[in-house]
Amino acid sequence: MLDFTLTPEQLSLQKNVREFALKEILPLAWFYDEANELPSHIINKASELGLMSGDIPKEYGGLGRSAIDGSIVTEEVAAACAGLATSIYINSLGYKPLVLCDNDALKQKYLPKIAKENKRICFATSEPTMGSDVAGMMCHAREDGDFYILNGIKYWITNGGIADYITVFATVDQKLQHQGICAFLVERNWKGVSIGRHIPKMGQRASNTAGIHFKDVRVPKENVIANPGKGFVLAMKSFAYSRPMIGAFAVGVARSAMDYAIHYAKSRRAFGHHLQSYEAIQFKIAEMYQKVETSRLLVMKAAWETDIGIDPTLSASISKFYCTEAANEVVNEALQIAGGYGYTKMYPFEKLLRDVRLLMIYEGTSEIQRMIVSGYALGVYQPIMPPIEDLPMLRSETGGKDFDKEMSGKTAWRCRMCGHIHYGNEPPDECPYCFFPGSAFKKIWPRE
Ligand SMILES: Cc1cc2nc3c(=O)[nH]c(=O)nc-3n(C[C@H](O)[C@H](O)[C@H](O)COP(=O)(O)OP(=O)(O)OC[C@H]3O[C@@H](n4cnc5c(N)ncnc54)[C@H](O)[C@@H]3O)c2cc1C
Repeated sequence: MLDFTLTPEQLSLQKNVREFALKEILPLAWFYDEANELPSHIINKASELGLMSGDIPKEYGGLGRSAIDGSIVTEEVAAACAGLATSIYINSLGYKPLVLCDNDALKQKYLPKIAKENKRICFATSEPTMGSDVAGMMCHAREDGDFYILNGIKYWITNGGIADYITVFATVDQKLQHQGICAFLVERNWKGVSIGRHIPKMGQRASNTAGIHFKDVRVPKENVIANPGKGFVLAMKSFAYSRPMIGAFAVGVARSAMDYAIHYAKSRRAFGHHLQSYEAIQFKIAEMYQKVETSRLLVMKAAWETDIGIDPTLSASISKFYCTEAANEVVNEALQIAGGYGYTKMYPFEKLLRDVRLLMIYEGTSEIQRMIVSGYALGVYQPIMPPIEDLPMLRSETGGKDFDKEMSGKTAWRCRMCGHIHYGNEPPDECPYCFFPGSAFKKIWPRE
């Protein structure tokens, strides 16, 4: 039986994270946005609460939280500040390739430090000249005895400026494309690693984003997360886990915008009545509510698939582009409801609009998600309905009451071009509608 109820433990997790988000993040969210700065005391508190490493398996010192748990945490934090949520959540993407890989010694060495000593890890695939086209990366890894020598630049790296460890994807030979990609765990303090300045952004300004330069960095082979040829698939598997969480970000941001819009619509008067009494406003709010609900359901489905061991790739992409685009619409409409105030920096909507915009870009743009879903729909998915040229669009003179008897002994042909159905033992010489010859007709009855 399908069950959408949260367990008592999940309800308690939701309550605690909500309390933390409302008390400690929300009041300072605008200040840190304006300051363009990641507040370390909030990040430290989030670490202490287990919000930055919740899904590390228990055997490596983690809390072993499920993907559904992760979506609950993420929605609550993002509802208070999407920028801080990005910096809190990215840890999980940073260590996901390590959790998924088969280098157990590396897991034993690093995962407990992340889980228990609040060490931070970031995830680095993107570069100044490529983001979507992961197989086209240029950061280079050259084998040298027991080491790989790493050279190149990673860009847009969330928490690049505060991370202790970096999960770096690189290529042994760019010409090999997917087949050349490998991954390593690199420590920030190693010789040859330098961190760029915090990149100024339109929104999510409280999250740290930086470039990282690797110059002749010697990475011991023990720190290989994925050997050449295995890195691309590992990156994609990691995204399949993280994309539903971006959906959860979208649910949180959209929910906040809706809440503020409801409050405004109930208190603001125009033409002698509260805004909430006008159908145009009511319908906007209905659509916001619908989008928050449908988005949350899609996130939960993808998270549930992850938790029960079904490959979540498709649901992850669907939830990523549906939820993030729906959230953009919700925030935009919420701002509209607040009128001129909505456009000011003294109201919450403009920050939400700047913050939500990023969700359609990072961890695979909306276009990339559409490529994944259309690739599945057109390539793997097996349609259930018959092909159009086989469709038995038959007529009945008895109103279908005794259809089998009526059709017994009859033959029907369908024109493949215009769809005209011809009854008779042979196809017509020519279609009376489109003039195509009899050879254009296909027998559709009796069924083959
Ligand atoms: C604030 C922020 C934080 C980030 N954090 C991280 C991080 O922690 N780690 C990390 O590795 N990366 C990170 N990124 C990078 C992010 O994942 C990339 O920006 C994103 O994948 C898009 O890549 P791009 O910017 O190079 O755009 P491009 O790949 O150059 O694409 C540009 C545009 O063209 C479209 N496009 C590209 N190819 C096609 C195609 N075949 N068909 C149709 N349209 C196409 C894209 O959808 C996009 O709209 C972050 C980015 C930002 C802005």
